[in-house]
Amino acid sequence: MPDKSSGVPTVVVAGLATARVTGDQLAEMMVEDCLAARGAIGTRPKVVFSSNGQGIALAGADAEFSAAMYEADIIHADGMPVVLASKLTGTPLPERIATTDFFHNAAIAAVRSGLSFFVLGATEKQNSAAVDAMVRLYPSLKIAGRHHGYIGPEDDERVSEMIVESGADVVWVALGKPRQEYWCVRNRERLTGVGWIKTCGGLYAFLAGDVRRAPTWMQRLGLEWLYRALEDPRRLGWRYLTTNPRALYRLIRYTNRSTEK
Ligand code: UDP
Repeated sequence: MPDKSSGVPTVVVAGLATARVTGDQLAEMMVEDCLAARGAIGTRPKVVFSSNGQGIALAGADAEFSAAMYEADIIHADGMPVVLASKLTGTPLPERIATTDFFHNAAIAAVRSGLSFFVLGATEKQNSAAVDAMVRLYPSLKIAGRHHGYIGPEDDERVSEMIVESGADVVWVALGKPRQEYWCVRNRERLTGVGWIKTCGGLYAFLAGDVRRAPTWMQRLGLEWLYRALEDPRRLGWRYLTTNPRALYRLIRYTNRSTEK
């Protein structure tokens, strides 16, 4: 479960202690944690995951994934249904922090504070196009390095060494769920000097322009999944058909209606 000592206020939504912060506040935490991690001996990076329907369903069905989620220091609300369910509690979430949006809060904060990013995941082509887009959008953003995501546990040591040598403050990890969460948990001890390891799913596909975001009205209604399913029904139709009912059950059953942490 997210690190209670980190002082991040949380509310339990679908069994996951979800950070009750805004995107700007989360970006400020990133800066503080990364500056503190630089050169500090014996600290390990914070692992920052996100909660959405797919992850909630997976955590309910798969003990290994659930255990990985418990390793996170911070979990933020990536999906609108998480924010809507938090309204059942006395301490609702202030806003949705979709990772695709949070990247921009993080990039602006990183430019201001001189933090650097390592971009891990996706195909070589999409990874490279995403980095190009990052640099185009934020010309002063420091990209410490990048690596595609078609890797296995046998590559952990090599890729981690590459990241540590790059001096990156934040490692963005887009390998798809659950692969990316497992990668973070397996490698966090190796990544000395890194402040944050942040999972980011389909972020590079959006930045590279391979996939479009849903219209804002659909995002607000919590229907981004529907837009994605209609855009890519063969890959995502089955995913949402199976995960949505399970996620809905867990959102209702395991959202803490009264307690504040
Ligand atoms: N991906 C990867 N390695 C793999 C499988 C997937 O790097 O072994 C990448 C894939 O190229 C994509 C990203 O993981 O850029 C996210 O995958 P997916 O679309 O499944 O995630 P979602 O955003 O739907 O959670």
